[in-house]
Amino acid sequence: MSDYSDFDHFGLDLRLIEAVRAMGYRRPTPIQSKAIPIVLKGRDVMGAAQTGTGKTAGFALPILHRLLPHANASMSPARHPVRALILTPTRELADQVADNVRQYASHTALRSTVVFGGVDMDPQTQALRAGVEVLVATPGRLLDHLQQKNTSLGQVEVVVLDEADRMLDMGFLPDISRILNLLPRERQSLMFSATFSVEIRKLAAGFLREPVMVEVARPNVTADTVRQELLHVHESDKQSALLALLADPQLPQVLVFVNTKIGARRLARQLQREGVNADAIHGDKTQEERMKALEAFKSGGLKVLVATDVAARGLDISELPAVVNYDVPYAPEDYIHRIGRTGRAGAQGRAITIATGADDKAVAAIEKLLKRTIDRSRIEPRPVPRSRRRGGQDERQRRAPGAASAPASAPIDEFFLKPYEPAAPSAAQEPLPEPAATGKAAGKVRVPALLGGSRR
Ligand code: AMP
Repeated sequence: MSDYSDFDHFGLDLRLIEAVRAMGYRRPTPIQSKAIPIVLKGRDVMGAAQTGTGKTAGFALPILHRLLPHANASMSPARHPVRALILTPTRELADQVADNVRQYASHTALRSTVVFGGVDMDPQTQALRAGVEVLVATPGRLLDHLQQKNTSLGQVEVVVLDEADRMLDMGFLPDISRILNLLPRERQSLMFSATFSVEIRKLAAGFLREPVMVEVARPNVTADTVRQELLHVHESDKQSALLALLADPQLPQVLVFVNTKIGARRLARQLQREGVNADAIHGDKTQEERMKALEAFKSGGLKVLVATDVAARGLDISELPAVVNYDVPYAPEDYIHRIGRTGRAGAQGRAITIATGADDKAVAAIEKLLKRTIDRSRIEPRPVPRSRRRGGQDERQRRAPGAASAPASAPIDEFFLKPYEPAAPSAAQEPLPEPAATGKAAGKVRVPALLGGSRR
């Protein structure tokens, strides 16, 4: 398959090319080079593409191109039936895909909208009733709208199952089947998945017709733009290790993964108490709260976003320098999804996993899946001076993760002597000044023992 070195060679409509240029895309990514010509031809596609490869444009640009003959400025909803349906597992991913589609189509008369649960149905209903050519949706909310006859799928020409593996993980198979039954049999179908389980293959066999396999990295292989490291620590040193990492000036923003909603809430609170500008997104938060935290993180107003796998699914945060696995994921595939949040679209990223002895099995399973070992970074615990031990410290000592990498010969960092400034009431809105970080030996992280280790 030939590689296309710029967007002009696909034969895409100039209005689409103009839009991607305006978004700063210079060259197609490998998945785009491969997928765009095939989708343009109308073939079904099975895409083995991990997050961050640019797969959204890989399917959205050729879909929009194929729909352009239908573009019209009529006010009549009947002239704007849904012709492309893009199903995603999470609200955040739906929102991001829809945002991309809207931008790609911005110089055309094609209409698009997004529907997902957790928010008021009315504005979605209005948009659907006005008519859209491209509909991005999560399965549950789409079924609600279909039941209320707010839209119909009888004229869909192309359907995309994005992040199909996660759809199955989240138990969407029955919903997807119901939706697929409402689509015309004659259609183009595309499916993207980062991993390839037996279930995914089964779904693909029923859903796709003579698909072309489009693969940019072998399935289950992580982006090679991500430097992966493993920090082995004692359970009680996990938080200290994280604080040490956060003091690294090369990690101005970090997405931190945990395994549970409670864990996300707790860790965000603990970090806030340490003076770190952190917030959490997880399933128990309202959609508005999740969006607000995500926006704060995207705009750089939030240093740390603590997330569960489900909540973080599909997050597109450009140039995210690092992902930290505060908990080793239960499923090795989740490791791949998590670290796909950094090193996106060619940018260099770091993925640091904090593991304890209890995680040895899970780490071994990840390495088996990766077919490689993850580089070990060493931790150098230092004795905790009496005055700074837990219970013997005051607030100004608490909010100084920057001290973590102070040289051992200079145990008292000037920073600790500064007056305590209370954290802003809403950590999500008011960025706190980060403590000036001191040097860090390459590949090594020191536990901020001076801070008294983990605190509740
Ligand atoms: P995706 O894998 O589709 O979520 O895309 C990951 C990120 O890469 C998004 O922020 C896209 O806007 C961006 N992106 C996609 N294609 C390109 C490209 N050809 N050049 C630069 N950035 C891109």
